[in-house]
Amino acid sequence: MLVVAFEAKQVAENFSASSKLSSDLVFACFDESVAEEGKKFFKEVYLIKAGDYDPFVYSEALKELYNEVGAKGILMESSAKGVAVASMLSAKLNIRCVSDVKAIEDNYVKRSALGAAEAKVKLELPAIICVKPGSFEKAEGKESGEVKVVEKSFERKINLLEFKEKEKGADISEAEVVVCAGRGVKKKEDLAMLEELAKLLNGAVGVSRPLSADLKWMPNWVGMSGITVKPKLYIGVGVSGQIQHVAGIRDSKIIVAINNDPKAPIFENADYGIVGDLYEVVPKLIEKLKQS
Ligand SMILES: Cc1cc2nc3c(=O)[nH]c(=O)nc-3n(C[C@H](O)[C@H](O)[C@H](O)COP(=O)(O)OP(=O)(O)OC[C@H]3O[C@@H](n4cnc5c(N)ncnc54)[C@H](O)[C@@H]3O)c2cc1C
Repeated sequence: MLVVAFEAKQVAENFSASSKLSSDLVFACFDESVAEEGKKFFKEVYLIKAGDYDPFVYSEALKELYNEVGAKGILMESSAKGVAVASMLSAKLNIRCVSDVKAIEDNYVKRSALGAAEAKVKLELPAIICVKPGSFEKAEGKESGEVKVVEKSFERKINLLEFKEKEKGADISEAEVVVCAGRGVKKKEDLAMLEELAKLLNGAVGVSRPLSADLKWMPNWVGMSGITVKPKLYIGVGVSGQIQHVAGIRDSKIIVAINNDPKAPIFENADYGIVGDLYEVVPKLIEKLKQS
């Protein structure tokens, strides 16, 4: 199996997922820091030097490597980069590709279908399997593999003119407590109240998609098309609980919802619900936590 990762933090998860399919694993990546991480998990690590990200070039390079190592399938993360490369690779190799994979069983994979449903897909190798970040346990790296550098050069279809790093924001995917603001929070300044609550609980603040994509209060959002979180405690504050949001929080251990509408769908997924005005409930919670 050829295992690929585009980000160092994804290597452990891609290793866990691919170990469910084969013990004969070869790792490939395009970045030195990812290769360094890969050495902890895989005996054979290929660092492909093919220049800046270009899905045309990366898929061509992986196609060659796949044939050279005689792999029976490919696994990578279901990120924007992963899916772009995987779909091209699938066409080039003429093998099937399954994205958004959340679980791998003996002869099938489970994939999230737009967050609204879960599809069970028969697993037939060769195939390209793209795993949804945050869905698999992170294994511990016990290997001390060797990195082989391979130079690959193809005609570039994309030429990078400028690269502007996106503002990163807090890494809520790793937080044990996530306090998530929804559109019930009226002003950006009011996030300070949620920050205070999160701080008292040793957690981090996230937002629903409208607060990020439309209002630009934070760079990332929680949910199906954003970051999947599975903290010990998730508190949704003024979040209605639409299916696309819930798809990204449903593996949280405990879900608490604060909403002034008793019919808000989030209550169907919550372990604890508080029906009330967040501007009254949150300050009271903060006060109680400060007392305890
Ligand atoms: C393809 C696609 C992908 C999407 N992906 C995502 C995703 O990944 N993540 C995501 O979040 N959304 C996603 N969405 C958007 C999603 O459908 C919802 O529109 C969004 O989640 C709603 O955000 P919200 O709950 O903050 O706002 P709303 O739905 O407007 O809910 C606000 C809630 O706040 C409550 N409220 C208002 N005032 C108060 C108050 N004073 N006190 C307490 N409660 C109050 C209201 O009762 C309401 O329930 C996606 C949509 C599409 C089409």
